[in-house]
Amino acid sequence: MTQLRAVKGMNDVLPDQIGRWHRIERTFARTMSLHGFREVRTPFLEPTPLFVRTVGETTDIVEKEMYTFEHHGESLTLRPEGTAGAARAYVEHNVHAAEPMTRWWYAGPMFRAERPQRGRYRQFYQLGAEVFGDEGPGCEAEVIDLLLRFLQDLSIPGVRVVINSLGGGATRLRYRQALVEHLTPLLDSLSHDSQRRLRTNPLRILDSKDERDQTAALGAPTIDAFLDDGDRAHFESLRKYLDALGTTYTVEKRLVRGLDYYTRTLFEITGAQEKLGAGSTLVGGGRYDSMVADLGGPQVPAFGFAAGIERLLIASEFEVASNVIDALVAPLGSEAATVGLGLARDLRREGIRCEVDTRGKSLRSQLRRADALGARIVLIVGDKEIAEGVVQVKDLDAHSEERMPITQAVRVVIDRCVAASRNVDSRPSADFARNS
Ligand code: ATP
Ligand code: MG
Repeated sequence: MTQLRAVKGMNDVLPDQIGRWHRIERTFARTMSLHGFREVRTPFLEPTPLFVRTVGETTDIVEKEMYTFEHHGESLTLRPEGTAGAARAYVEHNVHAAEPMTRWWYAGPMFRAERPQRGRYRQFYQLGAEVFGDEGPGCEAEVIDLLLRFLQDLSIPGVRVVINSLGGGATRLRYRQALVEHLTPLLDSLSHDSQRRLRTNPLRILDSKDERDQTAALGAPTIDAFLDDGDRAHFESLRKYLDALGTTYTVEKRLVRGLDYYTRTLFEITGAQEKLGAGSTLVGGGRYDSMVADLGGPQVPAFGFAAGIERLLIASEFEVASNVIDALVAPLGSEAATVGLGLARDLRREGIRCEVDTRGKSLRSQLRRADALGARIVLIVGDKEIAEGVVQVKDLDAHSEERMPITQAVRVVIDRCVAASRNVDSRPSADFARNS
């Protein structure tokens, strides 16, 4: 029979890798909670018009990267990003009526039919957050600062922050006009895609990775000259906040990013080029003050970001403990297996991760398994031990072995495994317990 394989660009995450995923997800949840953000979960599938209206009809995402299909006459799309769904939920549940400011975070898979390469997949995971109801630059600086702390907690080297302002709608229109005037004489030198973009979405040309487009854009006017007084004051104020927080950043006047919904502040955080190559952007975000109203809600300003977990994994240098259990209960014989199951239950109640192997294997084979799972202690239960009401406690780290009553053995395991904070990374609430 032919073997079935995963869809191209969609990856399995096997248990050997999951410890690093957990560390990132927990660190993020904790960071967001420290800033008063709460988690929101929205569907993976949304009506297609949601993305067409927010991300923009003439963006790469909508033009060629969405997984879209018809179901019972309705066009549905696997979400390519998280902001549109969050804004839809915000409007749909009338959240603005219940609270003047809303802070949400999310985590989950996104889907884009891109050409798969290192750090770029067709199903990938994002961590993101949105602030609704705060139009000022203070929350923008807070969020950028929060992200730097988060990336630092993950030991990510070479982090750089780039910011820009796109201004409001009127600014964008005037800039668009100037850009078209600059690029029209250069039409023939543009890539095929960008020749089309010149008519549909000229700002996109600045985001092109094609060298011909980048050359043509070199002498183009930059948006800063077109900002109005309000845009300018907003951007200046953001810079003051960032300076006060001691944040190092660069203003990049050509930064536009791939989604149409942004207004005013835009930012990106990149990691070390050597590790990430072309996909060095770890986090992208910005302000989108008209999306809520565009989706039929009231005029509520918003600001948010998204980070790709796979890229954080590539960029980060932290390690997690790889052991699966703390103790292995090794029964020798079927009566011993019964005692072993009870003993393992007692240990788990005390927070000791353990496995009991009731397959009737030899002691040698069970010791091999203990080693493979990274157990520190092996509790050997044989007929003789049962008759005497004891177990043999073999400490693989200390190379020691003693016989003792079961209750005492439980205490010994707790002392050696929990008190020593062994395997702290794989415990469900480990990061929280350690950091709080
Ligand atoms: P890029 O310029 O690298 O294509 P983007 O501008 O499309 O990124 P956003 O849509 O803003 O990225 O998404 C935010 C973050 O999500 C990116 O910075 C990146 O970390 C991650 N990301 C985006 N697309 C992918 C993908 N196809 N595979 C893995 N991660 C991705
Ligand atoms: Mg992209």
